[in-house]
Amino acid sequence: MRAMRLHRPGAPLALDRIGPLEPEPGQLLVKVLACGVCRTDLHICDGELAQGKTPLVPGHEIVGRVVAGGERFPAGTRIGIPWLGWTCGECEYCASGRENLCARARFTGYHLDGGYAEYALADERFCLALPESYGDAEAAPLLCAGLIGYRCYAMAGDARRLGLYGFGAAAHVLAQVARAEGREVYAFTRPGDAAAQAFARRLGAAWAGDSDGDPPEPLDAAILFAPVGALLPQALAAVKPGGRVICGGIHMSDIPSFRYALLWGERRVQSVANLTRADGEAFLARAALTPIRTETKSYPLEEANAALQDLRHGRFSGAAVLVP
Ligand SMILES: [Zn+2]
Ligand SMILES: [Zn+2]
Repeated sequence: MRAMRLHRPGAPLALDRIGPLEPEPGQLLVKVLACGVCRTDLHICDGELAQGKTPLVPGHEIVGRVVAGGERFPAGTRIGIPWLGWTCGECEYCASGRENLCARARFTGYHLDGGYAEYALADERFCLALPESYGDAEAAPLLCAGLIGYRCYAMAGDARRLGLYGFGAAAHVLAQVARAEGREVYAFTRPGDAAAQAFARRLGAAWAGDSDGDPPEPLDAAILFAPVGALLPQALAAVKPGGRVICGGIHMSDIPSFRYALLWGERRVQSVANLTRADGEAFLARAALTPIRTETKSYPLEEANAALQDLRHGRFSGAAVLVP
């Protein structure tokens, strides 16, 4: 089969032909129908996250059809394979509903080969049923951008005025969920990015503007999707006393020092790490109820490097998806 693989961080992915995959007991062999391109893939390919495997097939937003190996998901079923690929099931975190924090967790497209390929293997206990109402490419961004975004959203509490910093794949999904629940969305983009601001308004944002500016009203909570540490003090300044700032990315540049006054007033800062299977199930049930229009740009598998570069430079709205 064809696979786009990372052999060395910092180098482009190589188009490799690798032998057929054999599922072990408990694993599904899946034909990849679509695989989303996530910012985390960029961090892995750039070497900003250590301890991944090489060579590696990246990709952790996999929509696929089961070919062999399934009990829970028989052959022919369309499923989703998310970032959380395996957990130990025994540690204090796994035992308390926080498997996202398991120190031995293995992640798809990082410790385990992912979906930038024609086929993939996955532990079926960690696979997710997908709502029928979404096409293959449309469903892909739900599997990380959507569901980790949704975990961030839950952590933000019942904010009426919600700020989203970085209006890419995650924010464009979440903005629609937030609007459906009657929240006001304030979208912050790279300064001067008029296209992203127009995109946010089109998806129902009450306001969209530059990330180095202030919102017209103080916010109840803010979520940072952009991997820019300098935005954290800006977001703290934009939220009201008692407000929360949630950091949704797996990697962020250093946070500059800031005055304690920005944190004073019981403002809180929290990161969101990974996902649990329960998060995945809750979000996909939500996505089945509220139609979410995901805006995607499709690339053939061989153009994975172009998709990553376009993501790096913000050259499209919404999410990039590889279609083998
Ligand atoms: Zn564990
Ligand atoms: Zn991701």
